[in-house]
Amino acid sequence: DNYHKVLAENQRLYNEVQELKGNIRVYCRIRPFLPGQNQKSTTIDYIGESGELLIVNPSKQGKDGHRMFKFNKVFDQAASQAEIFSDIQPLIRSVLDGYNVCIFAYGQTGSGKTYTMSGPISASVEDWGVNYRALSDLFEISENRRNSYFYEVGVQMVEIYNEQVRDLLVDDGPQKRLGVWSSTQPNGLAVPDASVHPVKSTSDVLQLMHIGQTNRAVGSTALNERSSRSHSILTVHVRGVDLKTGSTSRGCLHLIDLAGSERVERSEATGDRLKEAQHINKSLSALGDVIFALAQKNTHVPYRNSKLTQVLQSSLGGQAKTLMFVQINPDIESYSETISTLKFAERVSGVELGAARSNK
Ligand code: ADP
Repeated sequence: DNYHKVLAENQRLYNEVQELKGNIRVYCRIRPFLPGQNQKSTTIDYIGESGELLIVNPSKQGKDGHRMFKFNKVFDQAASQAEIFSDIQPLIRSVLDGYNVCIFAYGQTGSGKTYTMSGPISASVEDWGVNYRALSDLFEISENRRNSYFYEVGVQMVEIYNEQVRDLLVDDGPQKRLGVWSSTQPNGLAVPDASVHPVKSTSDVLQLMHIGQTNRAVGSTALNERSSRSHSILTVHVRGVDLKTGSTSRGCLHLIDLAGSERVERSEATGDRLKEAQHINKSLSALGDVIFALAQKNTHVPYRNSKLTQVLQSSLGGQAKTLMFVQINPDIESYSETISTLKFAERVSGVELGAARSNK
């Protein structure tokens, strides 16, 4: 009973905050156990249908060992890529109506950020992540509406590593550029010289992503290492022309696979590793500060504190819509990273339930 009272109180608090913050949503996704992991040792105690998540501390007994979090939604281990996409489809389609949308994946390395955003390497269609599904959906809609609208779609892909922005689709390699985006400078991503590539089909997109992935690996010992320490941003620009009235709209979708949020022990990191860790730390907390300020409707939003927030400035705030996937590793070894990830998400969403515990 007490437990349900706590849940009801959380829900009330949560609804209040929801009304305040408008266009910001936070979803939590729990990664399944990987083959060989001990399924019994998990930190996940309970997942509620309205976005409650109860985490258990393996080293504490009883109610003191529990901590409740609340999000717009929690996707458990069984959630499929298709299920996730169908939930966010309306958000993605709003780009066709001229909205700017940012979708972030946040979490420690190995928590499933890339899986959610792109899918596993050489994924089959069912395993496709948000990015391919989003583009193929946009193509489908534009095809369906072809008698009334003309849509032009262009793609950019950049990486931010140590506060430096790098275009991942530069055409100085052996790859051919697919054409030239005919619109003048698109709005949305503040990297004036990053190339924009027109795309007409999912196969164009797959080709570009492949180029981007290949370029991303250059200069790093292992792709995995590099990708976990840099942010990657895939931006889809859509320009629509209403064939009847001639009016145009521009919207853009940013799909952001963030650098791993794991804390690096000061004592362990030196040189380049320490520098990387400091840059990541700084940019993730700057992102948290920006979203928090927007959720609170503060007049001052501190965009200038990192490259990531500067680059996305025109798509964060105002009429723009933001969704953050907070990715969680279910295993006990990840307990302290999980708590720190969830605290970040809690702050971003403006709902802090720290004191509210379950009394099961
Ligand atoms: P991150 O990008 O956060 O470092 P990855 O997306 O690379 O993490 O995921 C780590 C591993 O877990 C990969 O082998 C990935 O295929 C697997 N994985 C992550 N999420 C899922 C999921 N929902 N279903 C199946 N496998 C997953």
